[in-house]
Amino acid sequence: MSAGQAISGTGQAEAYDVIVVGAGFAGMYMLYRLRGLRFSVRVFEQGAGVGGTWYWNRYPGARCDVESMQYSYSFCDELQQEWDWSERYASQPEILRYANHVADRFGLRPDIQLNTTVEGCAFDDATNSWSVTTSDDKTIGAKFVVLATGCLSNARKPDIAGLDGFLGPAYHTGNWPHEGVDFSGLRVGVIGTGSSGIQSVPVIAAEAKHLTVFQRTPNYSIPARNRPLSADDRAAFRSIYPQVRRFAREEAKNGIYTEMPDRGALDDGANARRAKYEARWQHGGLTFMSVYNNLALDKAANDTAADFVRKKIAETVKDGATAKLLQPTTYPIGTKRICIDTDYFETFNRPNVTLVDIKINPITEILPSAVRAGAKDYQIDALVLATGFDAMTGSVAKIEVRGRNGRTLNQKWAEGPKTYLGLMSMGFPNLFIVTGPGSPSVLSNMIVSIEQHVDWIADCLKFMRERGLEAIEAEQGAEESWVAHVNEVANATLYPNANSWYMGANIPGKPRIFMPYIGGVGVYRQICNEVAAKGYEGFAMTAAARPRAMAVS
Ligand SMILES: Cc1cc2nc3c(=O)[nH]c(=O)nc-3n(C[C@H](O)[C@H](O)[C@H](O)COP(=O)(O)OP(=O)(O)OC[C@H]3O[C@@H](n4cnc5c(N)ncnc54)[C@H](O)[C@@H]3O)c2cc1C
Repeated sequence: MSAGQAISGTGQAEAYDVIVVGAGFAGMYMLYRLRGLRFSVRVFEQGAGVGGTWYWNRYPGARCDVESMQYSYSFCDELQQEWDWSERYASQPEILRYANHVADRFGLRPDIQLNTTVEGCAFDDATNSWSVTTSDDKTIGAKFVVLATGCLSNARKPDIAGLDGFLGPAYHTGNWPHEGVDFSGLRVGVIGTGSSGIQSVPVIAAEAKHLTVFQRTPNYSIPARNRPLSADDRAAFRSIYPQVRRFAREEAKNGIYTEMPDRGALDDGANARRAKYEARWQHGGLTFMSVYNNLALDKAANDTAADFVRKKIAETVKDGATAKLLQPTTYPIGTKRICIDTDYFETFNRPNVTLVDIKINPITEILPSAVRAGAKDYQIDALVLATGFDAMTGSVAKIEVRGRNGRTLNQKWAEGPKTYLGLMSMGFPNLFIVTGPGSPSVLSNMIVSIEQHVDWIADCLKFMRERGLEAIEAEQGAEESWVAHVNEVANATLYPNANSWYMGANIPGKPRIFMPYIGGVGVYRQICNEVAAKGYEGFAMTAAARPRAMAVS
């Protein structure tokens, strides 16, 4: 069946087997898999291009923090053999080029409608199908909807008095102008010192006349040690791709190929421990947290790693007071997303950079040409909001999703997101979420998690079609048990000790609940596979009342 043909039973003139929302890495791979199974599919993307995260986040210094040879699709060996990553951690323009290459190489564009926001989805119990409304005033039918809307795609503009009255340009790192920004000769203020702030501050400081960094909470950051990749580097990595990808999928906790620690931090003496931390610090990157196997579990063990990083900050930053401000002390290392930087702490040694502690002296107002924090006004010409995202649920919440009996997903999730496996939520049949809350998602190399979810959803739809099933819905008991399990696993770790965006703590009024599944991608994959092998245990499936018109391969 070709795209756009009416699917019987949806009640809409334009209808598809599946509507996918979002054309980031998740939406593009979902389209590729479903088309391969000969489902009719339409992807709607609100941006003017594909790539999702890498389309929107064009701030200076933006790059991945999982190494590019691993932060890339694994589903096609030719693709991973032919694409040449130029650096250990690719920059945003290169990752966006890769996303566009994938769209062209696999001929995805004809089924992706850009510049179109999905505003609402309503489920019809009578037909077991969805009506999807879009910003171009259309209502389109779909048997299934896949929300590939991204965990970090709803840029969070802070609610600060006077922000709209600021006379200079104000930018959000998550929605950066495509033409770039020239800060030379300007006094710039950056609010926020999470990952985007940490990546952009060194680059902006090198260009601006003066940079004032407004910090609420300091972050632990590890040097990236970024470097160009040679042809030999790439060839060496490619030769071990099968084992790298298998390990990332099946054994790793976070979807990253690394040595598995065989001991806890307190099993080594102080000298041996310091030597191991130093070796990982010199190596650079996210694997710093994999030196020992109990850093996320045992506070005393965690303290040894946190102390090591604090000492490094003190050694790097020359001004004692500034160094102290930059040292995180209020939460265990790793319980907020650990950052990876290039010369972040060194930047505070520059004469044109000032650090302001807005925990002690909160920002009370943005004036037409200054930021007021405490009793002081900091004069600026341009403002950068590196204030992050309404993570994991923010983009889903913007869509009016009406499930059974007209109940909205926002109503159901008012006290925190509830899902079965992070894939579906009871009361919302035939609606899948890629890397939804309750799945490893942001705690992992997300391309590994995206591929796993997409494959699971594609296999599930194929299974249903082969058996003449037309509706699938999470069962209440299965969902409740999964939510309890997600919480139980999180509560056995140090993660809930931090006021992080994993907990929704960066959004005023958002329920505090640990959203991602911390059990590890390998364990999680096994659970999902077992559920499928048992005929989708925990999901209720309904047979079609009449022959289905869904495409058959
Ligand atoms: C700066 C930055 C760096 C990152 N670095 C890494 C990294 O190194 N490693 C890693 O694993 N992860 C990283 N991430 C996480 C990153 O989001 C994922 O790796 C991945 O790109 C997510 O892909 P996605 O397709 O799921 O979502 P996204 O890339 O967020 O794409 C979702 C798309 O859905 C669209 N959309 C949302 N709502 C609607 C709607 N209602 N209608 C139409 N379209 C809609 C959005 O416009 C967006 O284009 C990073 C995130 C950021 C912000």
